[in-house]
Amino acid sequence: MRDDKSRKLYEKACQVLVGGVNSPVRAFKSVGGIPRFIVSGKGAYVRDADGNELIDYIASWGALLFGHRPSFVQEALARCAEVGTSFGLPTELEVQIAERVRNLAPHAERVRFVNSGSEATAAAVRLARGATGRSRIVKCAGCYHGAVDALLVRAGSGVATFGIPDSFGIPEPVAAQTLVVPYNDEEALESVFTELGDTIACFILEPIAGNMGLVPPLPGYLQKARDLTRRYGSLLVFDEVMTGFRVSPGGAAQLYGVTPDLVCFGKIIGGGAPVGALAGKAEIMENLAPVGNVYHAGTLSGNPLSMMLGLATLEQIACRGEKLYRELESQSAALASGIGEIASRKGVPVQVQRVGSMLTVFFTEHPVRNYEEAKKSDTTLFSRFFQRLLECGVHLPPSQFECWFLTASHDRKIVETTLDACEKAFGTL
Ligand code: PMP
Repeated sequence: MRDDKSRKLYEKACQVLVGGVNSPVRAFKSVGGIPRFIVSGKGAYVRDADGNELIDYIASWGALLFGHRPSFVQEALARCAEVGTSFGLPTELEVQIAERVRNLAPHAERVRFVNSGSEATAAAVRLARGATGRSRIVKCAGCYHGAVDALLVRAGSGVATFGIPDSFGIPEPVAAQTLVVPYNDEEALESVFTELGDTIACFILEPIAGNMGLVPPLPGYLQKARDLTRRYGSLLVFDEVMTGFRVSPGGAAQLYGVTPDLVCFGKIIGGGAPVGALAGKAEIMENLAPVGNVYHAGTLSGNPLSMMLGLATLEQIACRGEKLYRELESQSAALASGIGEIASRKGVPVQVQRVGSMLTVFFTEHPVRNYEEAKKSDTTLFSRFFQRLLECGVHLPPSQFECWFLTASHDRKIVETTLDACEKAFGTL
């Protein structure tokens, strides 16, 4: 497969952009090789600068539930071109999309639109601290909530550790307010709350972890989180930036029947335009300015471009209803079971973990329930698998610790083409 144009563009990009990209994982550092520069997308495919048509399992990192450029998004873009892209003043669109969000996810009693998932989680942490008057927060090792100081903190050893920043530039006193527990570990959560519960503003987690690769919550884990946070007067924050509107119309909260106090959205809620949203119980949300004293603001928050694309997408979700999710489930299940079957026939130990249209193929013999177990995967084998599939025209997320996303455009034929590519790839690892 030709890649000379991508190669040249990457060299040029490195002269003007840091590492040639605007978000680190795109640089292919963990899989090696040259990132493909994309010129367009349609449905389940992206076309790169060398003219290769690639089946896309990134789907803008989950932002695209219907694939690239569905007709209703193109129509919304055309409408937007006629009215304007930003006013910095209220519009009816913001009311319509907030109503739509609340219809799909009734725990979103009040919504604040922002410009990215990171902005939503940062605002959630500030709001939780402002509403409770407490400063500590609890997060899980391996859960990613955006490039936010308080949340870029990983686990150390022990049941719960006082956070060590994952990135330079985060003051230790900030990281020290973040307590880290292993994902899916009820005992660890219980002990951190028993010891420090009355100082904890919130427990924030991905209700289905997607940023250590796909790790579903163990039965009872989310309910335990709900019970403990309630008992200690802390807020439960679901980061559904990835799972919101993807695993069900009401996200993981609906799928598992556990209602958080606050929820963060992003990705799908903007239909492919830059967006995030913080939502939740009215009495908590109304601590935000202009009603309350927790400040949050944004020049482009609720801009018509993101709101129109988001509204068009949520309307599709509402109108296609269960059928949409049944179809996503059916293609995703066929892909996951096909991969499992090929890998076992070829003698490659993998765990295919999946919830709905999100999945990860972990190159390990044992099921993955948390970050420590995810890290035991053979990343060299994953990199080879990634490169083989790319040569066959299938573009996976370039890291073992990411989710693949299917969209409504990934039909059975595309799944079968992918499985043919997997057949070749597993045979040559
Ligand atoms: N939370 C989760 C669960 C995410 O997956 C991401 C991004 N992948 C974010 C927050 C941050 O969102 P954004 O990149 O839009 O800032």
